[in-house]
Amino acid sequence: MKESVRLGRIAGIEVGFNWTLLLIAGFLVLGLGGNQFPINAPGYTQTSYTLAGIFTALAFLGGVLAHEMSHALVARREGLKVDGIVLWLMGGYTRISEPPKTPGAELRISAAGPVVSLLFGLTCGIGAVLGHAMGVSRLAVTVLTWLGMINVLLAVFNVLPGSPLDGGRIVHAAVWWRTGDKYRATRVASRAGWVIGAGLVGVGVLSMLGTLSGVDGLWLAIVGGFLMMASRAEGGASAVLETLEGLTAADVMAQPGVGPGWLTVDAFLREYAVAGPDTLRPTAFLVEQWGGGLAGLTPTVAMEAVPPMQRFQVRAGDCAVPVARLPVFAPELPAGEVVTKMNEQGAAWGLVVASGQIVGVVSIQDMAGAVERAKAKASAAVDSSRWSLTRG
Ligand SMILES: [Zn+2]
Repeated sequence: MKESVRLGRIAGIEVGFNWTLLLIAGFLVLGLGGNQFPINAPGYTQTSYTLAGIFTALAFLGGVLAHEMSHALVARREGLKVDGIVLWLMGGYTRISEPPKTPGAELRISAAGPVVSLLFGLTCGIGAVLGHAMGVSRLAVTVLTWLGMINVLLAVFNVLPGSPLDGGRIVHAAVWWRTGDKYRATRVASRAGWVIGAGLVGVGVLSMLGTLSGVDGLWLAIVGGFLMMASRAEGGASAVLETLEGLTAADVMAQPGVGPGWLTVDAFLREYAVAGPDTLRPTAFLVEQWGGGLAGLTPTVAMEAVPPMQRFQVRAGDCAVPVARLPVFAPELPAGEVVTKMNEQGAAWGLVVASGQIVGVVSIQDMAGAVERAKAKASAAVDSSRWSLTRG
């Protein structure tokens, strides 16, 4: 989820919000100011209820921001690079561009948010009790009570033990610490997240069937569905990274072909996109410009996607991604970092460059195939060395 509007920096951390946040804010103002507050604290004007609703919505979002700020500040103190905080429909999240270095760091970063929500909630709750005892306006006490309850609820919800919730990160840290296996920890935490999500969907549907309004049930089901998807995605991404463990960019790169960009796609595919006697058919080509220089990188699939009727007009160079737009990696960079960076930039292709020379190309789509080839090569190397040892 990208931010739509940047709010600026707080304590050096970029804060932005996505437009879906306005849905939540509007829903809160209408629901609280228009419905709940008049019932819980009767006898005020509609303007007072609306103002109280706006104040409560802002205070609620401030609480969400404080929760995320605490994750971000602890992460920064643990030496991690924090990209910023985005507030959106499901609350907020902190973008940290690298994983925690130790289970202890992960535990501290994850626990900070729920602790802050709990403290904020308890403070509002105590304020409500004191306000009630001192005879403060009933509307103010109602606002404080709601803020207290929602923040304690937020703390409890966030420590449910499944990814991508904070509780899931805590489970991840614990399994990682016990077993020393980060990937196993991710499998456990993401499966738990899926189960919790499914449970919430179930409870949500049941309460929708059982009650008339059904709004809370619907919301629970939406949140549950989101958790199921997010935990599944996290488990999948981690499985990919696990297969890349120990490999470098050089291991997963492919040799690009080279060809003239001014040829039509039809001619190019027939003359260049073919397998050699002992080479694979190139997955992509560095295409040259008429008059010298590189037009860019043309993936073979991009040329094959050109409809047959147009292959006589479109040129290979027309399908090229300009070299300047491709991410560049050093051959020795871990393959996991290559994939993470390409995903972050939304790049399907990348270049592997050593001392100013393009030595290979990497493709997100071809990554699974590249890993298989790299592993096959590694095992073949082991076999031949064993063979030469027994012979010698
Ligand atoms: Zn959190």
